Amino acid sequence: MYKIVLAGDAAVGKSSFIMRLCKNKFVNNLNSTLGVDFQTKVIEVDGRVIALQLWDTAGQERFRSIAKSYFRRADGVLLLYDCSYERSFINLRDWVEAVEPYTFKEGTASKIPLMIAGNKTDLRREFEAEGRRCVRTDEGHRLAREYDALFIETSAKEGDYILEAVTELARLLRTTE
Ligand code: GDP
Repeated sequence: MYKIVLAGDAAVGKSSFIMRLCKNKFVNNLNSTLGVDFQTKVIEVDGRVIALQLWDTAGQERFRSIAKSYFRRADGVLLLYDCSYERSFINLRDWVEAVEPYTFKEGTASKIPLMIAGNKTDLRREFEAEGRRCVRTDEGHRLAREYDALFIETSAKEGDYILEAVTELARLLRTTE
């Protein structure tokens, strides 16, 4: 059982991501104060079956107040931003820097894997059609490279690349054991 912690600004889609992955559902205006702290999902990675615990940091959005306990025993971190809303992308740097100290595995020299995911690609498509400025794929890639993080773009609404995101992250969990 591995613990994956999701973080990022409020409303980027953390709860929706977990709901899509674990229940294959999407709810507009999901009430993120409902529900439990984490959901589990069993996935197959390269022929190996592993169980993931997905932890939502809802209500902890002001990163300075993040409970350390969320990250202390994390095996992987998934940082989300909303690619239709640039502010959440700008704020992602603060998130990476807040979380980085926890990516060092206690008592070892190894680091736990970090993935950056640009969510709401469906909304970006709509917004770009209207000529509105959104966060481009190459901008997300560049940021991830800077922090040695994995990168993916997702849509919790459409279900695009949600399973792929956790599978890619889980693939790295194997090698950090
Ligand atoms: P959280 O605060 O980060 O947990 O964000 P939520 O999961 O509560 O989502 C915030 C809002 O964005 C809700 O109204 C969701 O329905 C919506 N949302 C989440 N993911 C997506 C997505 O991929 N596409 C679109 N269009 N809306 C989304």
